[in-house]
This record gives sequence, structure tokens and C-alpha cells, in this order.
Amino acid sequence: MALNLNSSNVATRENRIGSITGYIGNLKDLAEKSECGTLRGCGRCFSQSSTCLSSCGLGQLSAIRDVAIIHHGPSGCSAASAGSYYLDKVMAKKRGVTTSTVYVGTDMNEQDTIFGSTNKLREIILEVNRRYKPKAIFVSSSCATGIIGEDIDSVVDEVKEEIDVPVVAVHCEGFKSRIWATGFDIADHAVLSAIVQPPKQKRNTINFKNFYESARPEIIEMFKKFDLEPVFLYCNSTVEELSHISESLATTCICGTLGNYLGNGLEEKYGVPYVRSINQCGIIGFETWLREIGRVTGRSEKIEAYIQEQRAIYIPQLEEIKKELKGLRAVIGMGPGYTFEVSRVLNELGIEVVWALAWHYDKKYENGDVPPSMKYLLDNDINFEASVSDQQNYEVMNVLHKYKPDLYLSRHPGSTVWAIKNGTTAVYVADEYMIFGYKHTLEFAKTILDSIRNRSFEQNLAKRVKLPYTDWWYEQNVDKFFEENKNSDTAGAKAAGGVK
Ligand code: SF4
Repeated sequence: MALNLNSSNVATRENRIGSITGYIGNLKDLAEKSECGTLRGCGRCFSQSSTCLSSCGLGQLSAIRDVAIIHHGPSGCSAASAGSYYLDKVMAKKRGVTTSTVYVGTDMNEQDTIFGSTNKLREIILEVNRRYKPKAIFVSSSCATGIIGEDIDSVVDEVKEEIDVPVVAVHCEGFKSRIWATGFDIADHAVLSAIVQPPKQKRNTINFKNFYESARPEIIEMFKKFDLEPVFLYCNSTVEELSHISESLATTCICGTLGNYLGNGLEEKYGVPYVRSINQCGIIGFETWLREIGRVTGRSEKIEAYIQEQRAIYIPQLEEIKKELKGLRAVIGMGPGYTFEVSRVLNELGIEVVWALAWHYDKKYENGDVPPSMKYLLDNDINFEASVSDQQNYEVMNVLHKYKPDLYLSRHPGSTVWAIKNGTTAVYVADEYMIFGYKHTLEFAKTILDSIRNRSFEQNLAKRVKLPYTDWWYEQNVDKFFEENKNSDTAGAKAAGGVK
């Protein structure tokens, strides 16, 4: 990847790494086409599997403590700020810290969208700085400012002279990408270009990009054994902490979709090794990840001893549960990172994945490699039907009705609820650390066991709920449906016909 920190703009995932938002086929085909570069996404005229990338990008940045987010756009664009603000406060409280991060919308009106409002923006930035004294100011664009060509960069350059904290333009025009995860890259780019400083000294720290740091205490404990200290990003990070992440021994992340841009950026710009391995879900993932950390930080011996100690505790227990899980069939619907990581864990537990749905798919990561989770599945000859961006409930219901799996696993509560109404046992993989390492993999296996042992809730609910789908819709062969529409835009219109 050629990182250009002199430009405030980041190319979209579609353009940079060939990400797609439409595919139907199987895992092998998806991975092979990704590797040889022939993968092409198909179009959809109707999609609910997407959202504005600004929620994602600015949500990441607002999680940093004591900063200001200025969203330059109509008030509707700032609607997501309420959710971010609430979440940031809850996360800070949970951690026992405080944050004075503010989220300000510039409320562009009709006149502003015709004549521009750079003067107002300038005043707002200065006023926000005067009133709230943030540690950094992120000034975001929107579709409206993008369409009229509002020169946010020049405004930011001007006010930098008058403000003594970093001020950075963040290009979040929602229309530019169908992939919300482009927002992760936009946030990372802003942090890399304006907050991270060149290293002065090396520290025994390891950058850990995650969402909500729920396993923070146990990860700190574990890394202590290896004389390493994790720096969790960006939830509850301080600007001061972020300014030093170039001094860490390595960067890792809970999910490649989330951390790939930052990891590669820090490696390219400051030589901080990025741990490129399958993620920490399941035993194979956790051990592979730990060993890679051992390799890049020179701590292989200590880490190997830890692995052997933990294996003795957890593997016998896990093997017992695996006997009862063997032969179960599952459908899985998650983000592109977790879909293929969790597929590996299910395989490890003896559960057959019959269909996997991903919100989008990253053909390659910044370094040009196929995502490690995909590579693992391919190298180990694991194959199943896979599709991209078809997680509207009407589609998930069709797949579940056709395959009648023993369970459905999702990282998004909406579809989990619908699966249960459909009579399918569902496990909501809510927390990013739910399958992390030995302890949580064992808990995850127990959760699945509990879910399938007693199915009365799903059965009773399904008996009492009338879903809005016609028999005609359930009878549609979803494979054929996708196949027919592979290169057309009629998928949504046809599907809509299946809903009363
Ligand atoms: S930036 Fe664009 S896509 Fe995002 S909320 Fe505003 S108008 Fe909608």
C-alpha cells in the first residue's frame, strides 16, 4: 500500500482493495478469484446491508477521549451522533474514565448547500475550540459538502494557525462508498496523518485495535506474562496515547476489517510490524495469533509455555463438548472479518457451515494478500456456499428455510430475532471477544450446546408469530434466484414480490 498522508482523502475500499458488495457462489470460488484477481462484484438495486460510512468513521473518532467532531453537513447527517455520544459515555463509564468529547453538526441549510458555508465552518471550528478546549478537532465532510465541492481542507489549513491542537479534515461523503467499513480506514487515516507522531523511543507496548475493549483486564493480565502492555484503540484512547503508537513493538487487531488500514499504515510509515494472522477466535486462531506475536516481538519461548499451560486446562473440556456438537449444521451471517473467522471456529468444533453471508467482502488487504481467514479456509480445503451483502431479513429467511440448519449465528441482533421467529435456534455473537482465546472458546461451545439442547423458546415463538413472507417466496430457489440475477439489478424488485 502506498500511504499518502499528505492528502486528507482516502480512496474507497472498492477502489483501493477491490472490495465488493454482491456475490453468490462458494468459498473456494470466492477465494480463488480473489487470489488471481478475477473477482467481480454484482450489482443490486435494493440493499439494506449498508449504511453511511460517516457513522462508522466518526463513531471511531468520537470514541477517543476529549476530542471534538465537527460534522459539516445538513442536520440529518449528524443524526448518528446521538448514538455515538451515548455509546462513548457508556464505554468511558464502564472503564471508569471520563471523556468530554463533543459532537457538533454545522446544520447546513438550503442557502449553504448552494453558496457554500466555509466562513461559517471556520467560525464554528474556532468557537468549538474556544468553548470546549478539545485535545484534537476532526472536521468531517458530508454528501452535501462533497457535491458542492466545499473546500474543507483549506478551512482546516487556515485555522491550524490559530489553534494549538491537531485539526484534521476527515472526508466522509457517504455516497463515495457502498462499504461502511471504508469509514474505519478514513478514521485511521485521520489518526495517522494528524495525531501519531514519529517514534522517539521503543516501548514494550502492542497496539490492539478493537471495538469496545470488553476483555481489557484479562488481555492486560495475559500480556503481562510476556512483558508486553496492550494499548487499546480507539475506544477510550487519549490523544497523548495515540501520539505514541508508532513506538510500539507491533500492531494487532480483533478483526482485519477494522484494523487492516492502521496496521499496514503504521508498518509502512514507522516500521511497526503488523501481526497478519487469522484472528484470536477459537483455539487454532488464538494460538496462531499468539505465536505470531511471539515471533515479531521476540517472545516465542514465553508464549509457547503459556500455550501449553492453557491447553492442559481447556482442551480436555473442549473435546468433551465437541462430541455433542459434532455434525450440527449452521448458517452464519456477519461482517466480512467475522464471517470467515467464525466459520473456521465452527469447523474446529465439528459444526458444518452450510451457508455463510458477509456484509461485504475485501478481495485483498492493503499488503496485497487475501485476508488470512480466507486463506486458512482455502489452505485447509474447507468449502461452503457463500454470499456477499444479502443480509436483508427476507433473504436470510429464505436461506434458513431452504437449509433448515441447526443454528444460525449472527453478529447483528435484527436478523437473529427473525431467525428465532422462523423457529431457528440462533446465537447472537454480540461481543467481539465472545470467542477469544481458550476460555471464551469453551464458553462459546457451551452456549451453542445450551442453545440446541433446549429449543422450546424458538419452537413456541415460531408457532405464535406470523411472518410476512409468502409460501411463494419460501419456495424460491435462492441459488437460482441469485444466479439469474448475478449480473442484473432486478434482485431487490423480485425479492420484494415475496413480501406481503
Ligand atoms: S453523509 Fe450522505 S449518506 Fe451520510 S448521512 Fe449525510 S447525506 Fe446520508
